[in-house]
Amino acid sequence: MNEKNAVVTGASRGIGKSIVLKLAKLGYNIVFNYRSNDEKAKELLEEVKSLGVKCEAIKGDVSVMDDAKELILLCKETFGAVDVLVNNAGITKDNLIMRMKEEDFDSVISINLKGTFNATKQVIPIMMKQRYGKIINISSVVGIAGNAGQANYSASKAGVIGFTKSIAREVGSRGITVNAIAPGFIETDMTKVLNEKIKENVINQIPLKKFGSSEDVANVVGFLASEEANYITGQTINVDGGMVM
Ligand code: NAP
Repeated sequence: MNEKNAVVTGASRGIGKSIVLKLAKLGYNIVFNYRSNDEKAKELLEEVKSLGVKCEAIKGDVSVMDDAKELILLCKETFGAVDVLVNNAGITKDNLIMRMKEEDFDSVISINLKGTFNATKQVIPIMMKQRYGKIINISSVVGIAGNAGQANYSASKAGVIGFTKSIAREVGSRGITVNAIAPGFIETDMTKVLNEKIKENVINQIPLKKFGSSEDVANVVGFLASEEANYITGQTINVDGGMVM
């Protein structure tokens, strides 16, 4: 294949890391960002390079527009194009509404939803010019079904789905597809904090009776980024073991 270039946000660990490795194995050059974990980012950078593709890592906060601009420009200027953008960076700050602090609502919306806006805003002019691009936004099943204790997170992820559909309508005529993935419960640091009782309750609600892996999500990213998914846009694909249907 011709060389293709992908940007992945929030990729020092978890689902983002698996997405980077999946796309690298498919032959994409990669630019990824992360917020704080320099050591993990360096390890991933070396691992990706060992797969024979080019890779750059850049520290930054997706909720800051200048950082998003720097990230997208790094890919454009280093590799000449941005074919794929995966908006993956996300956080949780869970609490019941009675106890949820205003700053915890704001930070979750700011990273999960505005962060998705920021990187997308920066990449759209480049993809419009190319008349080609694939934007893949990582939402969550709780953005569809809601979840007690996650009003901020659910709102941010529902927002990502609405955002995905709107941008898909805006840019479809330019050969750009925009889709979302809604993972269910995936084994990463984000879900490690759940206690055994909550995990057991969750597993009872999953027809496949287990948590997913970050590779389960990365595989769908690989498909949506490929030419095989050219006629799919504005969709949200659940990767959740059947939890929400
Ligand atoms: P994770 O293990 O907590 O990893 C989060 C990653 O995002 C880390 O690489 C972190 O960087 C980075 N990050 C956090 N805030 C950032 C910011 N402001 N700017 C740039 N990077 C930032 O999370 P995960 O479980 O892999 O989740 C990845 C995505 O999938 C998130 O959008 C999450 O909401 C979504 N998701 C996860 C699940 C699940 O069950 N795990 C389910 C549904 C959806 P540092 O390492 O430097 O902190």
